[in-house]
Amino acid sequence: MFPPEFEKSVLRDNGHGGLGYAELLTGPEEGVQLLAALDGEAVTSVRFNPFKLAAMPAEAKDRVPWNRYGAYLAERPVFTLDPAMHSGAYYVQEASSQFVEWLLRAAFGGELPAHTRILDLCAAPGGKSTLYSTLAGPEGLVVANEVIRARAGVLADNVRRWGVGNVAVTCNEPRDFAAYRHWFDVLAVDAPCSGEGMFRKNREARGEWSLANVDMCAARQRRILADAWDALRPGGLLIYSTCTFNRRENEDNVAWLAENYAVDVGTPTADSAAQKKCTEWGIEFGEAGGIATFRFWPHRVRGEGFFAAVMRKADGRIKRETPRARRELLVELNRAESRPLAGWVASPEAMKFARAGDNCYGYYRPAYRDVAALAGGLNVIYSGVCMGQIFGGKLRPDHALALFHDLAPTDLPATASALTLEEALDYLRKRDFGDATRGRLAEGLNLLTYDGLPVGWTKRIGHRTNSMLPGSFRIVNL
Ligand code: SAM
Repeated sequence: MFPPEFEKSVLRDNGHGGLGYAELLTGPEEGVQLLAALDGEAVTSVRFNPFKLAAMPAEAKDRVPWNRYGAYLAERPVFTLDPAMHSGAYYVQEASSQFVEWLLRAAFGGELPAHTRILDLCAAPGGKSTLYSTLAGPEGLVVANEVIRARAGVLADNVRRWGVGNVAVTCNEPRDFAAYRHWFDVLAVDAPCSGEGMFRKNREARGEWSLANVDMCAARQRRILADAWDALRPGGLLIYSTCTFNRRENEDNVAWLAENYAVDVGTPTADSAAQKKCTEWGIEFGEAGGIATFRFWPHRVRGEGFFAAVMRKADGRIKRETPRARRELLVELNRAESRPLAGWVASPEAMKFARAGDNCYGYYRPAYRDVAALAGGLNVIYSGVCMGQIFGGKLRPDHALALFHDLAPTDLPATASALTLEEALDYLRKRDFGDATRGRLAEGLNLLTYDGLPVGWTKRIGHRTNSMLPGSFRIVNL
């Protein structure tokens, strides 16, 4: 069952032309195909983490064409029971949304420049933030913001798992970023929407849909875009995306931006080669207000419904402003104070260390000043890599450090201990190890691994082991 007004609009049998389906679909026959696809099976796909895997796994043969690290799976496994997912080796991400990598690389003409700063404004649970983290690399910075606190916590856990160390997670309203004028090279707005593209994957989305909700979402999307616009630097890129099909939340908003804000109409992705590629892949290539648009229909593409457009803020004088710090959250550690931390990472010379409250954090040098400035005015709930706490001159490592891609490969003050699948799951369920497993662990701190990837720390003290897995990372009910 689909919401009647949506179905009618798709099949063009009433006057809901305002949703735009009459312009979008070739006719009612295509509407029937769309509804059939939305009633069918969702495809399963993942995106691998190149910072943790030297190469794409051999079994990842069926590749997502628009993402270098994306692959389709023949069936949907119980991901929760795969330790590799908990280690951040991959992220379960719907294929269409992985397109933002192609879009950004097309707009930049290849790799992102060093030190690119990306603001991912509507970020939880973190599918796109982890993708941007990969693209930006250790030299860049991703600010992943989520306005809802509980969702920001899940986002922060996914960022810890991904482990590149170049993300700051904030929990703020979009308007709070306007004070960081011209700060960001990329502003990504993956806006909350009416979710028509989720009608297949998440059947509840159908019940929440209404015409009134479409209009409410469209108005909210404009507010979000307007509130954060000042944070984007002139010449910077805005990526706007939704997981809905109707024009009101998509083309109409893009055209509204082009009309009311200083947007360059020469879209960075509008050339014919880009258009040809997208057509080959089944992606609908369109235009709104002089900006190229991309729409994913589930009856044409192997993925869920998705819409995206990228546009460049018109060039102009960059007047980067940082609001006066309301507080000093990060206290930089000097060389001597950093000593207990430096041995735990592979490239300590590339990092700076700081204390926030009881915890110590590590940052790649180019991002440190930026994170410190953001922490002065925003609600930063996680950033860089949490190293842990120092007691008596020694580090008690945080779980995030075990999952950090640049954890020192040798000479750790911990013993690496390989686990079997069942043992790794016991650890992730926070169950006690049996005698045989405990007997194999070294006395003191152990870095537990499964299939070559760290899963976390545990401390063995004689006949006891103390798991250092945080509660929010624990597998429950499975
Ligand atoms: N980008 C995410 C990903 O790839 O995993 C998905 C983001 S989801 C489509 C939109 C997010 O916007 C939600 O997490 C939602 O909580 C958040 N949101 C809701 N209302 C908002 C508002 N008024 N301003 C900013 N974000 C909002």
